[in-house]
Amino acid sequence: MSGEHHRSQHVGWLRAAVLGANDGIVSTASLVLGVAAAHGTQGHVVIAGAAGLVAGAMSMAAGEYVSVHSQADIEEADLTLERKQLMTDSRGEHQELESIYMARGLDPGLAKRVAKQLMAYDALDAHARDELGIHSRHRARPIQAALASAGSFAVGGGLPLLVTAMGPEKGLIYLVPCTSLFFLAVLGALAARFAGARVARGALRVTLWGALAMAVTAGVGSLFGTAAQ
Ligand SMILES: [Zn+2]
Repeated sequence: MSGEHHRSQHVGWLRAAVLGANDGIVSTASLVLGVAAAHGTQGHVVIAGAAGLVAGAMSMAAGEYVSVHSQADIEEADLTLERKQLMTDSRGEHQELESIYMARGLDPGLAKRVAKQLMAYDALDAHARDELGIHSRHRARPIQAALASAGSFAVGGGLPLLVTAMGPEKGLIYLVPCTSLFFLAVLGALAARFAGARVARGALRVTLWGALAMAVTAGVGSLFGTAAQ
């Protein structure tokens, strides 16, 4: 347990949080830039950014809830079936677990003993983990996942929105992309560092995609802005 630092267990929620914050920064900053490039007033730009932030956070929450919930439904159905099999066919379930352990390299005698002991301790848990690959610790939690996505999106989107509200109206078109790319780089670097991956590469990757998104929306905004005048 000690010595090595395994990071992969923590990467799941971290990845979700970083992704949410990333999305929040990129989509809010792009929206703000698009409206600013179309010569919106600062008030309009802030309203558009705030509306986009709320819409984005709600859509993240809904998407995450539906996806995690369907995952939880599948797991629940599997567990119900397993519970029934354990009650009706205890012998068959013992053999099933034995052959799983034999396939992993235990000799038949040891596999039989391991299966017997684990099933005496918690039969459903043993089958859930070793047969179905469901770990109770990692059981899907839809509400929690939805709140985490929406929350991280709102935190991310709050950064460019704050810059938009506080910054000078004339400078928004430069200030928003520059600060947003900086936030993205910091976030990418932190995520890469936390995940034990290359920091510079992680920062560069998110920054490039963010820059592309902002450039495209600013371009579209200025096209519409010009056309409307
Ligand atoms: Zn089973």
